[in-house]
Amino acid sequence: MKLHTQIVLALILGAVFGSIFHVNQRKIQIKTILEEYTAENWNEVSFIKKDSVINKFDGNSQLSIIKYFSLLKNKKEISGLKIEIIFPDGNKKILSDVVEVSKVKTIALLLKPIGDLFIKLLTMIAVPLVLASLIAGASSLSDLKHIAKIGGKTIAFYAMTAVIAITIGLICANIIQPGKFMPEENKKRLLETFQEDAQSKIDQNVSMNIVDFLVNIVPRNPFKAISEGDFLQIVFFAIMTGIFLSQLKTEKAKVVIDFFEGLGNAMILMVEKVMYIAPYAVFTLIAATVAEFGFSILQTLLLYSLTVILGLTILTFVEYPALLKIFTKFPVVKFFKTQRQVIAVAFSTSSSAATLPVTMDICEKKLGVPNRIASFVLPLGTTVNMDGTALYQAVAAMFIAQVYGFDLNLTQQLTIVLTAALAAVGTAPVPGVGLIMLIIVLKSVGVPEEGIALIIGVDRLLDMCRTVPNVIADSLACVVVASSEKSLREIKDEEANNDLI
Ligand code: ASP
Repeated sequence: MKLHTQIVLALILGAVFGSIFHVNQRKIQIKTILEEYTAENWNEVSFIKKDSVINKFDGNSQLSIIKYFSLLKNKKEISGLKIEIIFPDGNKKILSDVVEVSKVKTIALLLKPIGDLFIKLLTMIAVPLVLASLIAGASSLSDLKHIAKIGGKTIAFYAMTAVIAITIGLICANIIQPGKFMPEENKKRLLETFQEDAQSKIDQNVSMNIVDFLVNIVPRNPFKAISEGDFLQIVFFAIMTGIFLSQLKTEKAKVVIDFFEGLGNAMILMVEKVMYIAPYAVFTLIAATVAEFGFSILQTLLLYSLTVILGLTILTFVEYPALLKIFTKFPVVKFFKTQRQVIAVAFSTSSSAATLPVTMDICEKKLGVPNRIASFVLPLGTTVNMDGTALYQAVAAMFIAQVYGFDLNLTQQLTIVLTAALAAVGTAPVPGVGLIMLIIVLKSVGVPEEGIALIIGVDRLLDMCRTVPNVIADSLACVVVASSEKSLREIKDEEANNDLI
């Protein structure tokens, strides 16, 4: 069976496995100094201090109970705390000296380390791969003007796709108006449950300053950039190094270029071997997410989630094919067929950075993009080009505004276009950062930042979905830039369909 078929199968089986062994939402595990107690189907859970009840939860409040305990624990207010559980038959259980309250893990969660290992391996490869192949790639570019031309085209393409993506998001949110249908009671409950999570994100105090952003592209210390995996700084350093190596035209410089070419090739080979475990990893990652994901929250935020997913679907299957047709002669179906592994890895890891090595391999070997273009366009795209995230931020901002009863006018919506484009540029290519950067968009139109509490519950699922267009757009840009440079190598259909490993 072909690898991509195995991965798709793993994805489906993982989802089924995760829903069979899902985390029971009416079960909690309470660890005290002396015992571990599992409570199931309780009627009421009360937190008691000095004989008075400080908070009380009903039978459907597993997440709120866990979060409330961790809030007290963080504030160091758990000494003298008692938890009283009342069951439907009137039985009571009182626990004191509690140290932890958590969900009860199932086998689907226990297998997750295999998926984590896969993500770590890909992330490990990403930085040396980008550094090595870009130094080798840049050294083969004829001159500075050539690099500037490719850079200009790439950035223009990325800016255009982001603006279209955000516009799609805004249109969907304006037509569907998901926030207008949220009952007051759900709003209150969500704000209460996720208040703490939201606050910790707001406390990170993110901001986006264009001038600082540009100045920061130049690393003070390239080794620090490498150790921190800062792709933009690595790209800058690698291009400079590649250019000057090529200008030396000495035997010694050639040895260095050959060294980086060799290193890049070794990394690519490593990606192909790591992909052997992709089906198992995808299975465990999806199973763990489905198992842990509270489907009840999905119901509460169904219309919002569907609006984001609809926007992402239009982006991926309407905007991208249209751009591919306008700018290249590359067949649309063939393009999407080559992206199957990329999509599966992006979806299951929620990380453009972890997917980068796979995207690079596929772009060079299946789409026929030369290394000197792929090694530049892809790392740049991984960091700055996040169409899915930008679209999501636009819908999320509109949704929160609608729930709070704000009617955003055209100027405010144009502000969203601008700030979401910038916020997406500033979003790190790892899970969950899009939500933190959303705060910038909310601030720009005066919508309460605490509103992110409303959508945190479904962020993981939407993160998986938005990471997919984030990475597809990078492959698309590669094909567009390479074909505009007339340097796209033709790949036969059978070759494009074969596994790389
Ligand atoms: N997970 C996304 C990515 O890696 C970023 C985000 O939207 O949070 O592309």
